[in-house]
Amino acid sequence: MKKHLIIICVIASLFSCKNTSKQENGKLNIVTTTSMITDLVKNIGGDLINLQGLMGSGVDPHLYKASEGDVSKLANADIIFYNGLHLEGKLVEVFEKMEHQNIHTVAISDALEKNTLIGSEYFASNYDPHIWFDVDNWVLAGNYVTHVLQEAIPEHAQTLENNWKNYQSQLYNLKEELYKIVETLPEDKRILVTAHDAFNYFGNAFDFEVVGLQGLSTATEAGVQDVQKLAAFIIEKQVKAIFIESSVPRRTIEALQAAVNSKGHQVAIGGTLYSDALGNPGTVEGEYIGMFKYNVNTIVNALK
Ligand SMILES: [Zn+2]
Repeated sequence: MKKHLIIICVIASLFSCKNTSKQENGKLNIVTTTSMITDLVKNIGGDLINLQGLMGSGVDPHLYKASEGDVSKLANADIIFYNGLHLEGKLVEVFEKMEHQNIHTVAISDALEKNTLIGSEYFASNYDPHIWFDVDNWVLAGNYVTHVLQEAIPEHAQTLENNWKNYQSQLYNLKEELYKIVETLPEDKRILVTAHDAFNYFGNAFDFEVVGLQGLSTATEAGVQDVQKLAAFIIEKQVKAIFIESSVPRRTIEALQAAVNSKGHQVAIGGTLYSDALGNPGTVEGEYIGMFKYNVNTIVNALK
């Protein structure tokens, strides 16, 4: 009797392996974390997949905790794409649990060679997780996502390849366009001061000196000393503008502006940058390409 039961279980599990989809419409259930990853996977998977992103615009992934609804979405997923490198610091345990339930969890940062990552003491991973602000990194991540999806639905491998090639060429065009915008800003003006250290990869790619008020994770609040130190730096370097971030409360940057102004110097708030989340869905900034152009235009216009 027991033997029969085992055989039935084996057959059932073989069946579930072959027919991996948990959805009735026969499409894979894909869950993503940040809106940047959702946008990337959407551009590759198109309508071949059911896609659900957990984090909307203005959401801070460093502090994000899974709701009950999220946990059931994750448990229902065939594949989970997340950033990794401890960006989603409060979801690590949830991902581990999902892996034990044989759900394929994929950290897109695994697509990058470790020696190309920027080191950081602020994260358990020891690396800066804000990899999407280098277009080349995003191309590698897209390659990886494409391969994972092709393995999961080999019957659509060619369509996935075509989707990816099309989007990849848009990313290369974006990169070229961004360099042209940055070139209009003199090198000595390329100093980017923001609420938290999300732009180090951007700084490396586009030759900016980048300073964040909070450490790399927004989980650490900036202290009075940090504010004073950075205010002195802004005055010394004659920085014209500093920037708010869409997923970080604006009061940190306002405190910095006040500290600079109290010393008799003027620094403007150059606008709001999208750092760890895209803009609202349906807007230009609601997509990775539009977000990146918006950020670079905002930075260059304010610092000129
Ligand atoms: Zn961040």
